[in-house]
Amino acid sequence: MKKNLIYVLLLLIAFAGCKKEEKSSNPFFNKYDTPFEVPPFEQIKAAHFMPAFLKGFEEQNKEIKAIINNPRTPTFENTIKALKYSGQLLTNVNRVFGALNSANTNDSLQSISRELSPIASKHDDDINLNDTLFLRVKSVYENKGKFKLTEEEKKVLDDTYKDFIRSGAALSNEDKDKLRGINKELSLLSVQFGQNLLAETNGFKLVIDKKEDLSGLPESVVNQAASMAKSLNMDGKWVFTLQVPSMTPFLQYSDRRDLREKLFTAYFMKGDNDNDKDNKAIIAKIAKLRVEKAHLLGYNSFADFVLERTMAKTPEKVFTFLGQVWDAAIPVAKAEATAQQMLIDKEGGKFKLQPWDWWYYSEKIKKAKYDLDDEITRPYFKIDNVMEGMFYVANQLYGLNFTKRTDLPKYNPDVNTFEVTRNGNHVGILMIDNYPRQSKRGGAWCGSFRGQGRDINGKMIYPIVTMVTNSTPPTADKPSLLTSEEASTLFHEFGHALAALLSNKTYPGGSLPRDFVELPSQIMEHWVLEPEVLKVYAKHYQTGEILPAEIVAKLDESGKFNTGFMTVELVAAALLDMEYHSIKEPVDLDIRKFEKEAMDKYGLIPEIKPRYRSTYFNHIWSGGYSAGYYGYIWCEILDADAFQAFKETGNIFNKDIAAKFEKEILARGGTRDPLDMYIAFRGKEPGIEALLINRGLK
Ligand SMILES: [Zn+2]
Repeated sequence: MKKNLIYVLLLLIAFAGCKKEEKSSNPFFNKYDTPFEVPPFEQIKAAHFMPAFLKGFEEQNKEIKAIINNPRTPTFENTIKALKYSGQLLTNVNRVFGALNSANTNDSLQSISRELSPIASKHDDDINLNDTLFLRVKSVYENKGKFKLTEEEKKVLDDTYKDFIRSGAALSNEDKDKLRGINKELSLLSVQFGQNLLAETNGFKLVIDKKEDLSGLPESVVNQAASMAKSLNMDGKWVFTLQVPSMTPFLQYSDRRDLREKLFTAYFMKGDNDNDKDNKAIIAKIAKLRVEKAHLLGYNSFADFVLERTMAKTPEKVFTFLGQVWDAAIPVAKAEATAQQMLIDKEGGKFKLQPWDWWYYSEKIKKAKYDLDDEITRPYFKIDNVMEGMFYVANQLYGLNFTKRTDLPKYNPDVNTFEVTRNGNHVGILMIDNYPRQSKRGGAWCGSFRGQGRDINGKMIYPIVTMVTNSTPPTADKPSLLTSEEASTLFHEFGHALAALLSNKTYPGGSLPRDFVELPSQIMEHWVLEPEVLKVYAKHYQTGEILPAEIVAKLDESGKFNTGFMTVELVAAALLDMEYHSIKEPVDLDIRKFEKEAMDKYGLIPEIKPRYRSTYFNHIWSGGYSAGYYGYIWCEILDADAFQAFKETGNIFNKDIAAKFEKEILARGGTRDPLDMYIAFRGKEPGIEALLINRGLK
């Protein structure tokens, strides 16, 4: 996923125009005197953030005032461009704060986040709802024919104008006040949601103190749990958490059905425990306020509002699309459930398959069918080797080189930093932060401490990109050894990172719509298990032996295994998101009831839970994916078809295709309509076929 920061503003080197002056004790107020101007993390203390934010607000307010008070007729230059380049300090501090608060948070940052959210929301509204400023933007927009604008500038102008309208600039004063109230409340609620979720995730631990309770677990999983116990001062015990790399292997291998139930129940009840961290009332409020906001802005539902700016455009189109995938997947999932039940019956288990059984029995069937499981492949997926594999792919496709740098500031010892170059020229900095910790939220994402653009004088600004995962950590005697799915996640986030690194635009800010942004990331997942790539990186961590061809073949054959389940849990979450955001009246929802009815409506089978239940669906309540979670599967239409472009030539490293993909997709960022971008790359619009074939549903 991609972390959506609080402001949809811009990203620039701070203080590019700073004169020589006294060094402030607040690192945000000085030009960073670090290599590549990487934020000086070791100097940044929690106490620096609030003063930096406040000064950032103040500076941007001054810049806005100067735009408004400009006596000259509004032009692109003196209005749109001036606006795009305003708020540099604010963007700077916000990028650092957002990244740290997600990946390395603590009580101080969480409390700043709560204090900040209403102030930040007011600051945004003060700009977006400023009449005089809007009139200037409108004047430029209405006179656009009079200015000589590049294609990118035309898009920037259109987007800026639409952003103002969509933020309420054309509303009456009374409605503007209502909107301000809603925005303020929404921003606070989403912060509360995220903080509750982190507390709930960290709040549960399955502690095992008897060896017999570890029955079925492979050695690597046991060691992992022992290592976790040790880090929590519970030497001699074994601890499993609700973090995916800890939980999933337990669900796959533990023979103890009661403990699987205990662990998985704790997982899917996160935020739904009727305690002081419960998220139900919070999301009911968010859902209601979003309908009110949509109505104020003239839309039937929040989904109508969000989707206007996407490839899909309307909720109807999204529902139709999801329905097609659902209809293809649900019979496959039902057949998978039947096969599992048959195995349970054959083994003499007198019970009905439940959600906490799915991983366990599907693993058994997979093992019987392909003689393959994660423990066989893990030794070949040492994390450093997997990263070398992804660097190799980026080198073959785009000629990029990655050099490890140990001399740059980092926010946590786990971070690995690389300088990215091409033909000896600097391209950007990439930080990679791979292991779970209590201070990091779940999932994987990619963000930037500085985004690519050009400064106001046209000078290149090089990106500083950060990708974060929650991968299997190393133990005392073993390095980090990944599952093939975790390897795939690394490639995915690396795809986002490549888009950020190879971006080549002029104006800062701007972003791809949710249903396009996963194309650069998901296309990278196609390379991870290609035999040509595996033979480069999949080496046994002890012997150096290359992954044997028979295992490669098994990986390939088993690639479509369990696809009914994986598709159904994903589409179920996407449908749940769309159901919440298609509500047309601001009603008080009973969350449990709403979720159940929504899932029953589509006939979700009881053996499968949606990938995210409402109370821990971070993407849609605080991650910027509201009415956008479908984007992951929508983008599969694009990535499956785009990868075909390489396959068709018989060369997955075809440099001409890669150059075209870079030029038409990666380099453009949000500077062009997504469908136009895709057609420029592929020559045609993609159909749903490639997705269904790719998932083995056809
Ligand atoms: Zn993603």
